[in-house]
Formats: sequence, C-alpha cells, structure tokens
Amino acid sequence: MCDVVVVGAGIIGASVAWTLTRAGARGRVRAAAPAPATAASAASFSRATAFGKPPRAYFDLTHAGLRALHRIGAQGAPGFHPSPTLLWARDPDRLDADLARARQWGYAAEEVAPEAPAVPRGVDRAALSPRVVRLPDEGWVDLPAMAGWMVDRARREGAEVRFGARVERILTDAAGAVCGVALADGGRVDAGTVVNAAGAGAEEVAGLVGAQAGNAGRAVYDKAVEKMPITSVRDFLARPTEDEEIELIEWETHTSNGTGPGAGGDRNT
Ligand SMILES: Cc1cc2nc3c(=O)[nH]c(=O)nc-3n(C[C@H](O)[C@H](O)[C@H](O)COP(=O)(O)OP(=O)(O)OC[C@H]3O[C@@H](n4cnc5c(N)ncnc54)[C@H](O)[C@@H]3O)c2cc1C
Repeated sequence: MCDVVVVGAGIIGASVAWTLTRAGARGRVRAAAPAPATAASAASFSRATAFGKPPRAYFDLTHAGLRALHRIGAQGAPGFHPSPTLLWARDPDRLDADLARARQWGYAAEEVAPEAPAVPRGVDRAALSPRVVRLPDEGWVDLPAMAGWMVDRARREGAEVRFGARVERILTDAAGAVCGVALADGGRVDAGTVVNAAGAGAEEVAGLVGAQAGNAGRAVYDKAVEKMPITSVRDFLARPTEDEEIELIEWETHTSNGTGPGAGGDRNT
C-alpha cells in the first residue's frame, strides 16, 4: 500500500482519488476549495465528446473517456446524462474532415436533414447552419455531482479528505525525493507520491518542485449560452426542449487573448 496525496478535488482529483483508493493506495485528498468541483469543474459546459478531436491519440483518449462515462454511469455513478448531440456546423470543409475521421476511427456520427431536428426554445433556427450532424453516443456530465460521489467513495475506501486546505509547498527529503506537502494552515501530509490535480492552479503547484504543468487556465465562453437568460450551464443543459433528445448546440470558442471567434480553430474544449 502506498501513500498518495492528491492536490485538488475537481473532477480530475476526485476520479484519481477514487481510482487509487480502489486500487489499494492510502489516499489523502487536499483541496483549496470548500467542496468538490467548485472551480473549472463547476463552470464547465460539460459536453462529453470525441468528435472533431484530432490527432488520433487525443481522439482515442477522449473516446475512451466517453466510454468510461457510459460504463461508470451504468455502475451507478451519478452525473452522466447520455443524450445525443446535435451540431450545427458553420465550416463545411471542417465538417467533412471531421465526419471522414469519425467514420475511419469508428465514432458514431451521421448527417441529418436540417429541418429534422427540433431546436431548443429561444434559438433562431434561421440563424443556424444548414448542415447538422447527430452524434448519438454523446452526453453531458454534471461534474459536481459526479466528483462529489467519487470523493465520497474514496472516503469509504479509507481516503482522508480535507477541503479548505491549500497546498503551499511540496516537501522533499535529503535525496530530493518527494515526501509530502505542507499546507497554508501549517499542517503537513506525508506521502511518497503527490498527484497534481490542481486545475488552473496546476502550474503553480508544479512550480513548487521547479516543474511545469501543461496548458492550464484558458478562458472560454459560449456565444449561444451567453444570449440566453440562464444562471448556469447546467441549467441550460437541463432545459426542456421541443424534442427531449436534444441537449446541445454548437458554440464558438473565444480565447482569452482576444484573437476572436473560433481562434485556433477551436470548437469547444
Ligand atoms: C467554461 C468552461 C467550459 C468547459 N467545457 C467543457 C466541455 O464541454 N467538455 C469538456 O470535456 N471539458 C470542458 N471544460 C474543461 C473541463 O471543465 C475541465 O478540464 C475540468 O473541469 C478540469 O477539472 P480539474 O479537476 O482539472 O480542475 P478544477 O475543477 O478546476 O479543480 C481544481 C482543484 O484544485 C484545487 N486547487 C488548486 N490549487 C490548489 C492548491 N495549491 N492546493 C490545494 N488545492 C488546490 C481547487 O481548489 C480545485 O479543487 C470546460 C471548462 C470551462 C472553464
């Protein structure tokens, strides 16, 4: 049995803690937040998709994630809502490329007649692109519900979980090996492995041992959602539609560096 401290209790930290404790690790979770999934995981559009996500390795990862959501949903984890995505594509070349890749890589995707699908109330059909794709195996995730459940399961497996516990330092021994973390409140947790699941704080946590985290802290917003009088993305996803099958429409991604709509060719995360 090894000691692991997980820094962060968003969906990543929660799932790592749950998985590790099930595998027999002695888990400790420390999150600066007051509850599970209050940061990016609470703001997420929560769309579970692998469509339009080259290169192949990235597609395989996101596709495996989607299959895992179906699997853990069937095992009783709350939060995953299987529901087909309808995607109104503005760029025909990109759509053709995405569809060709989906077929080649075994991802369910079909083009449907533009007049066929009903649209959520408040959306102007005339403003939508004439090309519509239906992605039948997708869904969305209530991340706070799922992360809360995972943290609870990790606790039941013996993990020690504390919120409001900001990790300020990563401790190393005389040989330079990681041996735990120091908290802002003066506390300390001894562990031979530290998992950095600090989300937008990952860069800072990695920097505590002179390392670098990947692409953290990118801001996006949803043009379609922005126009609607809603209080949260989850409210939007849970709204009734004319056709109960419909959960999502496509959105454009704007990056925080001000380079404009769809910068970098992004559709969503
Ligand atoms: C607006 C928006 C829309 C998105 N839409 C989608 C989508 O449709 N589909 C999709 O797949 N993804 C989407 N994403 C991305 C997805 O939501 C994130 O990748 C995911 O929620 C990140 O989870 P996380 O656990 O890494 O981080 P977070 O949920 O941010 O959790 C980070 C945790 O680390 C803790 N922490 C940070 N620093 C410290 C510290 N020093 N000590 C202790 N704890 C610390 C925080 O308190 C928190 O508990 C979206 C993101 C945003 C912001």
